Amino acid sequence: MNTVELPSGERVAAMGVGTWNMGDSAAARAEEIATIRLGLDLGATLIDTAEMYGDGASERLIGAAIEGRRDEVFLVSKVYPHNATRRGTAAACERSLQRLKTDRLDLYLLHWRGSVPLEETVEAFIELRDAGKIRHFGVSNLDRADMQALWSVPGGGGAQTDQVLYNLGRRGVECDLLPWLREHRVPVMAYSPIEQGRLLRNPKLVDFARRHAMTPAQAALAWVLRDGDVIAIPKSSQRSRLKENFAALDIELTPAQLAELDRLFPPPPGPVPLEML
Ligand code: NDP
Repeated sequence: MNTVELPSGERVAAMGVGTWNMGDSAAARAEEIATIRLGLDLGATLIDTAEMYGDGASERLIGAAIEGRRDEVFLVSKVYPHNATRRGTAAACERSLQRLKTDRLDLYLLHWRGSVPLEETVEAFIELRDAGKIRHFGVSNLDRADMQALWSVPGGGGAQTDQVLYNLGRRGVECDLLPWLREHRVPVMAYSPIEQGRLLRNPKLVDFARRHAMTPAQAALAWVLRDGDVIAIPKSSQRSRLKENFAALDIELTPAQLAELDRLFPPPPGPVPLEML
């Protein structure tokens, strides 16, 4: 498994497992658990969830899926902005830990920036880290100005990632946020890397993938992973698709292929507001 280095020096799997909308259906449960476990077998040891997903259903599913295998997993969860006060963060973390049936999170993210001052959330994260409830903290959906604000609060520069929307059709972060993060050696965690499946029906991508003997999902994921400092967290509830997606790790797009994708999916000419899903 390719890895990406966090600012802490720890290396995590370059391709992880997204779990939004998982755990919602009893009929899908067995296959979803099998998919998460297959991910672990393939080295996809980073699992992303949030207290928001299915009101805890995703965390509960993961708790069941990783039972007996906790030490293999780099577990990421997120706190709602409205819970991200000093006491609220600790309480939300405790609830997540219970649902996940574990004593620690590897990475705890602020899901997006709300009205609680960043300073207070960072203080809460640091207290949780000191107490051993989380190993690292980070953020999600913060734009460049938000990151600068985060860096200006005490301890804020300890954030390990910014999880943002990034895929072939959403390249706005390349104009301002990504260069800032690279300068500060903070890896991006790319969510919705196949645009919730919609990108796979894009005729330009379908045609590219066919001509280059890969699937559209593999082309889109290999592109996200092309520079070695971006983590991708595609979600699938099906083992066959997870396998297909993970085969993207074996694809190194050539300079000609990358140039072609740049022509087909150009980045915006200048900075655009950070997009969210
Ligand atoms: P993705 O871009 O990962 O796409 C997931 C969708 O694509 C699902 O419907 C899945 O269906 C389908 N799919 C996956 N692989 C294939 C394939 N090979 N062929 C065809 N269809 C496929 O979208 P997500 O929005 O789920 O993003 C990934 C993860 O990022 C989330 O699950 C979540 O963990 C995180 N996230 C974080 C956000 C944030 O604000 N921080 C916001 C959004 C997502 P099926 O499951 O049936 O295979």
